[in-house]
Amino acid sequence: MIKTKKTMEAVVGVVMIICPETGYEISTGMETDQSTFSHAPVFFARTYCPVCRTQHEWFAKDAWVDEPKRRTGSKIRRPHLRHSEHAAR
Ligand SMILES: [Zn+2]
Repeated sequence: MIKTKKTMEAVVGVVMIICPETGYEISTGMETDQSTFSHAPVFFARTYCPVCRTQHEWFAKDAWVDEPKRRTGSKIRRPHLRHSEHAAR
């Protein structure tokens, strides 16, 4: 009997955001899986940005889950990079 439970498990990743000042991808330190995150209500959070050395406020719609298993050389998605056109990049 082959166990296939592993495919049933949600892949936990780290919630990432784009730094509005520099455009860098920074980790929020929050861990969740994609389905949980996508079904979560819109929320608001703050994350310390190591690049700017300050805290950035962000909404769930600006964030995404960086699932480690999907990072196989391909560039991760940036769903809402355009929202900060005032940024340097
Ligand atoms: Zn920043």
